[in-house]
Amino acid sequence: MKLARLGSIGNERAALIVSDSEAVFVDDVVGDWSRTSLEAGVMEKIASLDISSRPRVAIADYRLGAPVTRPTKVICVGLNYAQHAIESGATPPTEPIIFMKAPDTVVGGSDDIVVPPGSLKTDYEVEICVVIGKSALYLDSPAQAREHILGYTISQDVSERYWQLERSGQWVKGKSFPSFNPLGPWIVTADSLDPNDLRLWCSVDGEMRQDSRTSDLIFGIDHCIWYISQFMELKAGDIINTGTPQGVGMGFKPQRYLQGGEIIETGIEGIGTIKSKVVNA
Ligand code: MG
Repeated sequence: MKLARLGSIGNERAALIVSDSEAVFVDDVVGDWSRTSLEAGVMEKIASLDISSRPRVAIADYRLGAPVTRPTKVICVGLNYAQHAIESGATPPTEPIIFMKAPDTVVGGSDDIVVPPGSLKTDYEVEICVVIGKSALYLDSPAQAREHILGYTISQDVSERYWQLERSGQWVKGKSFPSFNPLGPWIVTADSLDPNDLRLWCSVDGEMRQDSRTSDLIFGIDHCIWYISQFMELKAGDIINTGTPQGVGMGFKPQRYLQGGEIIETGIEGIGTIKSKVVNA
């Protein structure tokens, strides 16, 4: 099943994607794809819903909003692909590096990425994103993580490297500018996707920059959820950006950062693609 939110900014409505080009609205049943509705058991309601009687709409007629409403937490795993750790000049970590990103960064997958004023080092990062389906706290093992996953979507963990790495302290400084987390195009529910060996890629103006597979993750998705649950309570609708593979702009010599006017396409096998325009603030 694919869960989406269709509509202009602030007017998105919960929908199910029913074919390559069509969706049906279900906001009258679910309200929105949010912590509140997920905790109220809306996925069970959806499973028994007869969607064949609902009118179909063309996806192309709508903007695709972020498929979860303003997640309360955006948790990120850093340096989680070995080759990316090497290109970053870092030693691959012995346990997951986790950091937070302001939830207000989340925008739709086709919305613009805004380069902040004065930025010279805005960079891209394709990531497979986990959407939490039910509360997880102090899990006993990675194997328990699976039942807490709603599904997977595509995330762009946009990053300003100067503020992230050269201004001391936490990475959050370079990660939380408005629009720095395009998300979409929809959530593929966990029952219909095995996330452990999927191609993921990112291109800038058609030039492939990142092209890897989730099988290269140092710490797999279940491990990351189990690990994070030892430090905080994961709640329905929270999202986890699980790390990016090699090929980010920072890794090139000379480095190649985003410029206004460029088009970034970000894709994951089995989920789809999102496409953002870079604009200057
Ligand atoms: Mg990242």
